[in-house]
Amino acid sequence: MAHFLTGHGENGRYLHKIGKREDESCVDCLLTDGKDHAVFECPRWFEERREAFSKIGEVLTPDNIVQKMCQNETNWRIIQRFVTLVIGTRERTCIRDRG
Ligand SMILES: [Zn+2]
Repeated sequence: MAHFLTGHGENGRYLHKIGKREDESCVDCLLTDGKDHAVFECPRWFEERREAFSKIGEVLTPDNIVQKMCQNETNWRIIQRFVTLVIGTRERTCIRDRG
């Protein structure tokens, strides 16, 4: 998660990194776990995502998330919180699955 927050320029790279398991199915929903799936698509995070989007007042996409994050501190905190939750949970799941 630190990578996601170390700088604005890192965000896109980290989002890309999340998608490195591109041809595998999602550990949570079994849909194709493509680039940006967990943060933007996975139904597992539907409620949390909806809450974050409604606080920001806009639907976030891979194209506008960095821009929205940089717009103001409130957005930054909302997005950081949501992404940390998704990625943090996901990383723990992956570590657990590897044994
Ligand atoms: Zn999923």
